[in-house]
Amino acid sequence: MGVPVAKGRVSIIVERCKSCGFCVEFCPTKVLALSSAFNSKGYHPPHVVEPEKCSGCDLCGMYCPDFAIYATKIAPPKEAARES
Ligand code: SF4
Ligand code: SF4
Repeated sequence: MGVPVAKGRVSIIVERCKSCGFCVEFCPTKVLALSSAFNSKGYHPPHVVEPEKCSGCDLCGMYCPDFAIYATKIAPPKEAARES
């Protein structure tokens, strides 16, 4: 029921990326894809294609060999959830 709400937010440091694709490959919910854009070194960084599917698990950050991506959890709206 309802629209899926993202539980995590991904941050990408585009200039550090070397397009290895690990973050895309290992994201369990396929949130990411490699972009067709280039960074200044000529690599294609990832971008977010399914933001509402992100759990904030940070597997993308753990697999990235260049510390070019990380995720943070989004706190649930507690007040709204408690309202009846
Ligand atoms: S935090 Fe997890 S779900 Fe979100 S993009 Fe990274 S690997 Fe995918
Ligand atoms: S794992 Fe890191 S270096 Fe590899 S494509 Fe993703 S952000 Fe770029």
